[in-house]
Amino acid sequence: MTRYQISPHLSRLIALAAERAVKGAELAVGGGVAPLAGSTYIVKGSKMYLVDLETGTCTCPDSKAPVIEGAKLCKHTCAVMLYKTA
Ligand SMILES: [Zn+2]
Repeated sequence: MTRYQISPHLSRLIALAAERAVKGAELAVGGGVAPLAGSTYIVKGSKMYLVDLETGTCTCPDSKAPVIEGAKLCKHTCAVMLYKTA
């Protein structure tokens, strides 16, 4: 059996991302995602935010969202990713 070495930092990022993925799934299932233009999407929850998948950015104030591979994985970005793979 292979033993993986996952750093505490990565474990923390994954836990943070998982929380946001669950909330993002709720947004995506609830019809909160709408394509805008190119790589940009509007995500509507309690407020409306703009996600750009190309730059990995979202206009929301979630400063604790993990950044993985350059993308800010707030619940809105997760919602768009789930929307795209649905
Ligand atoms: Zn966001």
